Amino acid sequence: MATTRLGLETFDHGAQYVTCRTSEFRAYIEELVGIGYAARWTPRSRLHGEEGGGQLLPWFVGKPGMASLVRPLAESVRIHTARNVHTIERHDKGWHIWFEDQTSVGPFNAVAVCVPAPKARLLLGRLDELAQPLARVRMTPCWALMVRLEDRVLPDQDVYSDMSEVIRWIARNNTKPGRSSRGESIVIHASPTWSRETEDADPEVVAEELWNEISHVLALPPVRPTRMTAHLWRHGLVDHSLGETYIYSGEHRVGIAGDWCLGRLAEHAFESGDRLAKAIVASLS
Ligand SMILES: Cc1cc2nc3c(=O)[nH]c(=O)nc-3n(C[C@H](O)[C@H](O)[C@H](O)COP(=O)(O)OP(=O)(O)OC[C@H]3O[C@@H](n4cnc5c(N)ncnc54)[C@H](O)[C@@H]3O)c2cc1C
Repeated sequence: MATTRLGLETFDHGAQYVTCRTSEFRAYIEELVGIGYAARWTPRSRLHGEEGGGQLLPWFVGKPGMASLVRPLAESVRIHTARNVHTIERHDKGWHIWFEDQTSVGPFNAVAVCVPAPKARLLLGRLDELAQPLARVRMTPCWALMVRLEDRVLPDQDVYSDMSEVIRWIARNNTKPGRSSRGESIVIHASPTWSRETEDADPEVVAEELWNEISHVLALPPVRPTRMTAHLWRHGLVDHSLGETYIYSGEHRVGIAGDWCLGRLAEHAFESGDRLAKAIVASLS
């Protein structure tokens, strides 16, 4: 659930919206709506060409960006951003976290590893009983293209899905509540197959190819984006999940959570993380 800035405009280049299947997640989202961090989004969809067409469950988005959905969870904790964890290491007094810049924090009583499965396997390294089950998880890349146009050129829908073998999703990001309504800010997701085939390609080449494909499938007039940039979510989508809500070792006091434990949605990540947190609290009390 990421929001990034391109020039003056913001783009949700990862998750597009969330739905609520469980009462816990619904309660959380309703709380966010109440404090202005989330709102309902009813884009005109290609399926029925009308407000909310194609939505089986209501769609909710973060406000002013998807990243706002996790803001309240981050408010009372200390977060180190833009620092990759390299290793987790247990000493007598507890766990220490080593970052790639060779600094460390700790000791901690317990660790929750909440990164994509292939990265979690690397971090868990020697803890075989935790790392082993992760081998059955399959994650697949997804290219996201962000495009800015000063004029409105898209035909009359706000979202399109499965447009071709290359394009999985197109959304007018600025039709989400709380975004600037000037011009067009478009987010495009490539299909898993195409993303896999091109995952090592130059992002600028990918951006051009995706833009040409969109122009073709939507029969756009010959316009040039003011800005566009492609981003690869290398372990973005879950092909095959773990099939367990989370894993926790009371002996080692290490747990693992993520969307890939249960499925492929933000709500799965929420449920997995919530259950792991409860297991950690129970084991420490
Ligand atoms: C293109 C795309 C579209 C999607 N659309 C939707 C949608 O419309 N609706 C929906 O519900 N879901 C959607 N999803 C899925 C949704 O984004 C995920 O389910 C959710 O983000 C998973 O949350 P998570 O906390 O498990 O993992 P992530 O969101 O992947 O968070 C893991 C975090 O760990 C960080 N990290 C990784 N390695 C390290 C390290 N070594 N050290 C420190 N930090 C690290 C990453 O930077 C990241 O911030 C989409 C995903 C993608 C990629």
